[in-house]
Amino acid sequence: MDPSKIGYSEARKETKTGLKSGKDGAVGVRIFRLDLHVHTVLSPCTDIAEMTPRAIVRTALEKKLDMIGICDHNSGRNTAATRRAAAGTHLTVIPGIEVTSAEEVHILGLFPSDGAAAAMQEEVYARLPGQNREEVFGYQVVVDEFDQVDDLDQRLLIGATTLSTERVVELIHKLGGLAIASHVDRVGFGLFSQLGFIPPGMLLDALEVSRRTDFQTARKKFPQARDYTLITSSDAHTLDEVGVAATKAQMTEPSFDELKKALAREDGRCVLEEESL
Ligand SMILES: [Zn+2]
Ligand SMILES: [Zn+2]
Repeated sequence: MDPSKIGYSEARKETKTGLKSGKDGAVGVRIFRLDLHVHTVLSPCTDIAEMTPRAIVRTALEKKLDMIGICDHNSGRNTAATRRAAAGTHLTVIPGIEVTSAEEVHILGLFPSDGAAAAMQEEVYARLPGQNREEVFGYQVVVDEFDQVDDLDQRLLIGATTLSTERVVELIHKLGGLAIASHVDRVGFGLFSQLGFIPPGMLLDALEVSRRTDFQTARKKFPQARDYTLITSSDAHTLDEVGVAATKAQMTEPSFDELKKALAREDGRCVLEEESL
């Protein structure tokens, strides 16, 4: 029998947050700082010498982040290396991808495992035309957890896939991921600027607002955002930018499952909007 279960039902009680808490306090929520949108050297628009796994992890720890999401343009090839670079630290690295849809909307997919992120990458690569031109767009560097170069990705990662925005969201969910519309307040590649509205039936888990706009302003400007969980992230392309915007979330631990509950506002988990900016 699992010893932690003994007496649990008798001992648990309601806390202020509504979360069931054991009398020893083992089950409870805390506030964590998350930056769920960070690019690496795989994105052609980053500096090739800067956004390496070890440097990102070191900077995220310096900036007192508990969780980061690695979301490169149309690829997840550096997510596992960054997660391994964080091994032995308290930083949680969530494998992700920032997909460009056919309508040029950016959607973040965050996944429970490297395998799920890799499966999403395969879906994206199968529908991503074109070859990178390094002299025009920049290098797309695949690295290991020691920042050693493994490969240069040759696909046109900065380009748009042939997947509709709705299909991107569906595929992310099919693979057990969370789908978040990136920087919805931005004119380029934002959901509202590109589509004008959130299509009915598109089950987004949250909307990301860039650091340039506060949540209140975003809700005023985009009435459809009213009912969605909002997050903010750095969209860092340089080390200086890591953590410049962060979401504060109330969870029991910095894990994918807890993040999922926080975005869905379940079991006392939530995003603390007024403290996130
Ligand atoms: Zn973007
Ligand atoms: Zn981005």
